[in-house]
Amino acid sequence: MTVFENAGKLLIVDCGVLFPEENQPGIDVILPDFSSIRDRLSDVVAIVLTHGHEDHIGGVPYLLKERADIPVIGSELTLAFLTSKLKEHRITPKAVHVEAGDVRQMGPFGLEFVAVNHSIPDGLAVAIRTDAGLVLHTGDFKMDQFPLDNRITDLRHFARLGEEGVDLFLTDSTNAEVPGFTMSERDLIPAIDQVFATAPRRIIVSSFASHVHRIQQVLDSAHAHGRKVAFVGRSMVKNMGIARDLGYLNIPRGLVVDFKKLESMPDNKVTLVCTGSQGEPLAALARMANGDHQIRIGDGDTVLLASSLIPGNENAIYGIINKLTDLGANVVHKGNAKVHVSGHASAGELVYCYNIVRPSNVLPVHGESKHLHANAELAIRTGVDPDQVIIGRDGVTIDLIDGRAKVSGKVQAELVYVDGQMVGAATEETLQERRLLREGGVVTVLALLDPDTNMPAEPLEFLTRGFVYDDRTFDGASAEVVKALTRAAEQKVNDLKRLESIIANAVSRYMQRTYRREPAVIAIVVDA
Ligand SMILES: [Zn+2]
Repeated sequence: MTVFENAGKLLIVDCGVLFPEENQPGIDVILPDFSSIRDRLSDVVAIVLTHGHEDHIGGVPYLLKERADIPVIGSELTLAFLTSKLKEHRITPKAVHVEAGDVRQMGPFGLEFVAVNHSIPDGLAVAIRTDAGLVLHTGDFKMDQFPLDNRITDLRHFARLGEEGVDLFLTDSTNAEVPGFTMSERDLIPAIDQVFATAPRRIIVSSFASHVHRIQQVLDSAHAHGRKVAFVGRSMVKNMGIARDLGYLNIPRGLVVDFKKLESMPDNKVTLVCTGSQGEPLAALARMANGDHQIRIGDGDTVLLASSLIPGNENAIYGIINKLTDLGANVVHKGNAKVHVSGHASAGELVYCYNIVRPSNVLPVHGESKHLHANAELAIRTGVDPDQVIIGRDGVTIDLIDGRAKVSGKVQAELVYVDGQMVGAATEETLQERRLLREGGVVTVLALLDPDTNMPAEPLEFLTRGFVYDDRTFDGASAEVVKALTRAAEQKVNDLKRLESIIANAVSRYMQRTYRREPAVIAIVVDA
């Protein structure tokens, strides 16, 4: 999520979610931190959405919950995906549909939209004209010259903006470290077709529910080889329905059938398309791998993972590949076949863009630190003044004045965790506790203390979950607690809460020292 400010008004570009990693247990998604604009929501003139991926639109429902009537600007497919998502949150957006080439004035921001090619159809870059200068934000993009929908990134438009003078260029850094050019989506046809030509029984394809181009390739191959296709899973069925209705997905008549209908067909006529290519535990593929889905994977089935592997998900997905293989499936993935190309511009494409746009200031966006630095390096190699290439981490504020961009400060930009229905309640401390529980389990100490002496009136009671111990563990711990309570009595400690923390600390220290273990310890003191 990027916020632009001009003449007292705010313009938001994208508002996505981040997906949790293994060290963020129990978290569903992570939102941008709205706290720096919360008091100024009435100044927001619009949200511009560059494309329909979750990491660009997933946070919008949460922002609209704070102010529902912010105009949301995007292309047809982007708005359709957003609207269907908002329906689940019972929000009807004030949607403003734009197409490549359109111009819109929103308060003090003059917006102009440019077609870009990406792994989801209908992507837009946005040029923002203000009295402080001209900004060009690419969103996510690549420069596939032969995309399935023949809609290429409009470099002629980039060039016209470059002629006018782009003062600040925000570019997609995701693939800045990858040399050369990202392969065309069309280059996958032979490998995908090979799968369909040779699979002896069912083909189960797993992909993102938004990857319309890739699924089009799968449909085309299935059709060519006389197979039928069923979409499996709510988000896949929903998104493909939207893409088909709007004409972004071309489905030959009779090709796609209801899942139930496939059950009576011969296995070698069946294709199933589902989600879960990132190893998400609740998605269809993981459940199939665990034998926890109505689709039972068996000998001779082919599973095609037709998508990327997002860093951080590797362990989960390798686990699933192993389980599917154990069940007898042949798993085809980007590691053993050319079944995936990235949706992002590689270094060669980025360099072209810098040379075409000739920006005065550059802010690499999208990607981790190493990607931002690699992208900055590319900008500098094309001749952008190194002082005018800014590496900005989350929360940094940048002023664009007299054609110069400069870091001017920082606003609060924490990770805001969504945990079930709780938004923003889970904190870093919560996650630290969960990690502790995961590593060491929990030990609860129940102490019945004599109110006169504050010493145990009865032997301490220990309750555990996920903590292993032997016969002597709790005797030793009890002795430590008695020592600590004796010292506390000498210092006349009488406060229950303090006594509880003294007991918990004594047990923690003992477990750490004696067993090299760090369970979470909870002490409960009851007056005898
Ligand atoms: Zn994207």
